[in-house]
Amino acid sequence: MSFDTLLPVLLSPWGLGILGLCVGSFLNVVIHRLPLMMERQWRAEGAEALNVALPAEDAHPLTLSKPDSRCPHCGHAIRWYENIPLISWLVLRGKCSACQAPISVRYPLIELATGALFVACWWRFGEHPTTLLWCGFVSVLLAASAIDWDTTLLPDSLTQPLLWAGLIVAVLGWGSVSLRDAIWGAVAGYLSLWSVYWLFKLTTGKEGMGYGDFKLLAALGAWLGWSMILPIVLGSSLIGAIIGIGLKVSGQLREGRYVPYGPFLAGAGLCVLFAGRDLVLSWLGWM
Ligand SMILES: [Zn+2]
Repeated sequence: MSFDTLLPVLLSPWGLGILGLCVGSFLNVVIHRLPLMMERQWRAEGAEALNVALPAEDAHPLTLSKPDSRCPHCGHAIRWYENIPLISWLVLRGKCSACQAPISVRYPLIELATGALFVACWWRFGEHPTTLLWCGFVSVLLAASAIDWDTTLLPDSLTQPLLWAGLIVAVLGWGSVSLRDAIWGAVAGYLSLWSVYWLFKLTTGKEGMGYGDFKLLAALGAWLGWSMILPIVLGSSLIGAIIGIGLKVSGQLREGRYVPYGPFLAGAGLCVLFAGRDLVLSWLGWM
């Protein structure tokens, strides 16, 4: 099969949906391991600065590909046919084949969400190779949101490449905004939250968000353009307020724990992406 016959299959809704399930399976690994890799890096730097020995468990390498996936309960090595997106979880009925420990429903849900987002990219951008760029964009947003939700960290290793990729896509003319709009989008994204952060900090002495949030909004600005920054900030505040109140009322928000802002920024970014610039501006009454 040549590339010319393979590409239309890949860019069809079925092709993208299946690709999304597989990418989602990889995102599960990223979401689980990247924060652990970051913690290890910090420990290694701390140990070096303090000139003390590293903890013994840090001696084994941990990367996105190593070691192979294992059941966290019994250490059973997960075989390839137990690792097929969605299907394996359903066949195994959400349990480890060796020890019957439950496998979180979040794994298939992340795979399904990625598949659905890839099909949504097809719906929005059509059967065009640049649709794959948007698939990459939504994948990074999904991974960053899940990591932020779990750990309240937004890794630079996700937000910074996303920002640069957005600018490069704009230079090449492959995206939906001009280079000028992309650069001003990145600037406006970073500075808007940075100013809110300092205003909040100087008036209340508290930190309402982190630098990761500024970088994420800068990346969204690079991909979606400066005119989408205000709609994203408004949308994310609204979603964040609703979910924050929901968590508080249901008693799931423990004292001292704060609700990460990244998932709401990413969520609002996706809404803007799929609704389209014209519709979003008309909601605000600007068009
Ligand atoms: Zn097991």
